[in-house]
Amino acid sequence: MLTLRSIEPQSIPKISEVDLLVIGGGTAGAIAGIAGGREGLNTLVVEQLGFLGGTQTGALVTPMMPNQIDREPLNGGIDMEINRRLNAIHESGVWKDGNQGWFNPETLKHTLEQMVLESGAKLLYYTMFEDAVIEDGAVAGAVVLNKAGRGFISAKRTIDASGDGDVASRAGVMVERGDPETGRNQPFSVRFHLGNVDLKRFAEYLRSLGKHDVMDTAEGSDVMLIHTAMVWGKGWTLEPVFRKAVSDGVLQEHDGDYFQVFTMAGRPGELAFNCPRIRENVDGTNPDHLTLAQIRGREIIQRYVAFCRRYLPGCEQAYLVMSAPMVGVRESRRIQGEYYLTTDEVLGGAKFTDAILRNCYPLDVHRDPQDKRNGVIKLPPGEYHEVPYRCLVPVGVEGLLVAGRCFSASFEAQSSVRIQSNCRAMGEAAAVASAMSLRSGISLRRVDGVELRAELKRRGARL
Ligand SMILES: Cc1cc2nc3c(=O)[nH]c(=O)nc-3n(C[C@H](O)[C@H](O)[C@H](O)COP(=O)(O)OP(=O)(O)OC[C@H]3O[C@@H](n4cnc5c(N)ncnc54)[C@H](O)[C@@H]3O)c2cc1C
Repeated sequence: MLTLRSIEPQSIPKISEVDLLVIGGGTAGAIAGIAGGREGLNTLVVEQLGFLGGTQTGALVTPMMPNQIDREPLNGGIDMEINRRLNAIHESGVWKDGNQGWFNPETLKHTLEQMVLESGAKLLYYTMFEDAVIEDGAVAGAVVLNKAGRGFISAKRTIDASGDGDVASRAGVMVERGDPETGRNQPFSVRFHLGNVDLKRFAEYLRSLGKHDVMDTAEGSDVMLIHTAMVWGKGWTLEPVFRKAVSDGVLQEHDGDYFQVFTMAGRPGELAFNCPRIRENVDGTNPDHLTLAQIRGREIIQRYVAFCRRYLPGCEQAYLVMSAPMVGVRESRRIQGEYYLTTDEVLGGAKFTDAILRNCYPLDVHRDPQDKRNGVIKLPPGEYHEVPYRCLVPVGVEGLLVAGRCFSASFEAQSSVRIQSNCRAMGEAAAVASAMSLRSGISLRRVDGVELRAELKRRGARL
């Protein structure tokens, strides 16, 4: 029997019938689309915005954090293919220690789109997932909403790459959210870009202060590398400048809680800001919170722009290129999966026979200033842990996998694994697992994780 969890099915026209439906064309979902298409599956990626990349391109999170040991990346496969493709056209830079993922978000949008289309997968933009369609205990597709109204997409397999576990949650999968000790989510950020910056003068100024990463060119490319930050009380040499700006009334005290700036490949004269940070009302599944974040974020950005122009040499003529169309959400729902990755397993370097990715990025919780627990905890030098396939398989429902930051893990384990290369790896693994389950006529739960691992390895994963 066909049932919708909350909508009368009769009135909804079937608009598409696919093997693989990917909800969300973000960091994980775009890669799931590429991998699904390459597997020969009739694949459709549904995305609420008009472009791919999600947090990477929409929330302007342009630096990919390194996941590597002795300069050797732990991720391979499509993640590495994309980085190489962008490196080859100088649209991503090789940063410190060989990290390849510092990209121009506009070029990434285009590259992902081309790769999805080249794979044979299809795209449906400006379309929002609304509800899961359940048939005999399995997700059999989704109801979506767009300008044409509601439509039903029937799918043999569905990947929830919404970042927020929207499909899993509507399908009745149990979810967790936030820090179990405080009940709070990690903060949001509303990022922005500043243009018409004289990067050379800015770099000279920062060098004269000390304690900043400034190099004339990033490794193997012509990108000027600048990274600086300011957090009250952490010894950043920009602190006296911030103090002066607060006393002049240009900034407010909390504007100095977290300020971080990078350059990007392919965008000379621009700076990308990993701020402002929003700490209150930070449930990424609450539309009121998201709305408030954009409003407040834009207010603070106006102050930062004024600050940069007045106090930072090289930024006198700078202008606001854009504020991020998407709020940067670090974590929201985490599904209950067949395996729950714990904090101890991350720090202890746990290994699994059904591993789909390897990670050595530290625990990285952006704690409130009053929370004195350590936010960043590294794995032992040279150590990595693995994430098993079972973390993508939701408990209690068939036909569905998740990929991306909403996978099954503790709050702190998620803070480590959520980086972009790992989300991409989850997207690829979920699509390959979907193809294996369809080829063998078995459920996603029954896909042999050891075989999946071998398949991923054949496709270039470093496992
Ligand atoms: C501020 C911030 C800074 C970060 N810094 C770094 C960093 O420096 N380096 C790093 O590697 N990682 C960083 N991360 C982490 C990393 O960027 C994210 O964890 C990762 O990109 C999330 O990928 P995802 O695929 O799970 O979600 P997303 O990339 O957000 O993709 C979800 C997609 O689903 C779409 N969608 C959502 N709901 C629906 C729906 N109902 N219907 C249709 N479409 C929908 C969205 O529009 C989006 O395209 C940062 C994250 C944030 C927020």
